[in-house]
Amino acid sequence: TPLTIFIAVVGVIAIVALVTVAVLQNKPLIPKYKYGIVLDAGSSHTAMYIYEWPAEKDNNTGRVEQTHSCKVKGPGISSYASDPKKAGQSLQVCMKEAERFVPSERHEETPLYLGATAGMRLLNIENSTASDQVFQAVSESLQKSPFSFQGARILSGQEEGAFGWVTVNYLDDRLKQVCTTGALDLGGASTQISFVSDAFDGSESPNNSVNFRLYGNDYNLYTHSFLCYGKDQVLRMALSGPGSISDPCFHNGYSESKNYMTLYNSPCVSKRKPVSSPADFTHVGKGNFYQCQELVKSVFDFTQCKYTQCSFNGVYQPTLQGPFGAFSAYYFVMNFLNLTDTSVPLQSVKEALARYCSTPWETIKKQHPGIKLKYLAEYCFSGTYILTLLTEGYNFTSETFSKIRFIKQIKGSDAGWTLGYMLNLTNMIPAEAPDTPLLPHA
Ligand code: AMP
Repeated sequence: TPLTIFIAVVGVIAIVALVTVAVLQNKPLIPKYKYGIVLDAGSSHTAMYIYEWPAEKDNNTGRVEQTHSCKVKGPGISSYASDPKKAGQSLQVCMKEAERFVPSERHEETPLYLGATAGMRLLNIENSTASDQVFQAVSESLQKSPFSFQGARILSGQEEGAFGWVTVNYLDDRLKQVCTTGALDLGGASTQISFVSDAFDGSESPNNSVNFRLYGNDYNLYTHSFLCYGKDQVLRMALSGPGSISDPCFHNGYSESKNYMTLYNSPCVSKRKPVSSPADFTHVGKGNFYQCQELVKSVFDFTQCKYTQCSFNGVYQPTLQGPFGAFSAYYFVMNFLNLTDTSVPLQSVKEALARYCSTPWETIKKQHPGIKLKYLAEYCFSGTYILTLLTEGYNFTSETFSKIRFIKQIKGSDAGWTLGYMLNLTNMIPAEAPDTPLLPHA
């Protein structure tokens, strides 16, 4: 009938119009990719990562990629303890950015996670009410976004270490291979070491053991997170030691008035607080790497170990087995110091750092205009802490040190726990291998 013909013609025109609009806007009718968003609420800052993967192939290895990241302005969420609402508000700019980077057709189904690490672990120890209020505020803020908010929580140190390892090995395509890469992560408030060692079956220290079955391979991962051994907390510990106000870890000529309250305002150093102290002190640098190394060593306890072997503070650690990827602050610091080339012998790395530390503060400032002064003042300390942690703390030798790669990203995705966390929560890594034949297992 003419009516049927009319309806059919209108239908065809409508479809043609829709397709034309989509083509003109350069958008497929249904987006090709799926998306996931993870917020890393670290001790010093929060970062948002957007991941994408082909919609029809959720289960293949190495297919999830970071497409965008956004650094939240201001400090980490734990710094908003006295004004939690502001913690929520601080996330809004990045969340608006996410709305532009994820196609609107996918907003509703895109999972959104927030994971907090050692900054919030410390706040939770110090004042659990304040920590709950911060989570309440960030959750309320994230619920307002069009994405599918899956919750905000503190990751355990074990999770942080294990997911960092998953990220590195997923991006390196190692999960189908015999040999995996260990993960070294350095934050402001904690540090993690995770690796697979043939000498470790988990029995000697079950708390350090995480078992995975990924793509048909079983992994028994050793992981440990040292709370308070992130670089900002170690700096507080080193500063609160005896006689450290004349500080070998800061450059000659550096002199800043600092506040005792701010220094001791952390559970990592509260026990060291002197009974009576003036409000302020002058932090004076004397630029000596070797003395700085001695000072940094004093924050490790090597006196007790009830296992066959320990790293420090009585924590079990099996024999190191490389290669390793070192990321986050390991990368920021070693990259700034031009020390990421580990084919350079460890002894020469130490000598280069010693020269850097002995350079006067005025010269350093002139050599590096435009670098945030707080970071600039701390690179001598941070570099010394990194080398001391690796060699004295974890027992890397000149030989094993050369197996560490200092990395920021792998194939365009940042190294860190966020990708591994999302892959796990979205069941994106199957326990059994897909159709491809397995490589022989070690
Ligand atoms: P978190 O916020 O816990 O993930 O810790 C990150 C650590 O890296 C903090 O100690 C920051 O101060 C530090 N950091 C971030 N960016 C830089 C940079 N460009 N140079 C030196 N340290 C940095």
